[in-house]
Amino acid sequence: MMVQICLFADEDLPAMRETTWLCMVCGVHTGDIDEFYMVTDEVWIAAIPSIFDQPAMLCIGCLEGRLERTLKSDDFTDCEVNSDHVRFCKSKRLLARLHDQQGG
Ligand SMILES: [Zn+2]
Repeated sequence: MMVQICLFADEDLPAMRETTWLCMVCGVHTGDIDEFYMVTDEVWIAAIPSIFDQPAMLCIGCLEGRLERTLKSDDFTDCEVNSDHVRFCKSKRLLARLHDQQGG
């Protein structure tokens, strides 16, 4: 499966169980929809205050639903997964948020 090969090729990535990739709200596999990203602690705590310190995933739609606003580039960290590095495929809406563009 191409997506998993892509995502797990980097040995620096934590070895995540398959279930860890599921959006904790809607259950979509965030790897399958190319929404693997990192946001700042402030954003994450605001979104899931009760378990912010545990491994968890939210798709962009559910994260924005919890924040009740659209994400912007400042919400994302400077880590490599958020960069335009080709290894990490990104959904249209994730790319739009990372670059402060409309749409997606
Ligand atoms: Zn979701």
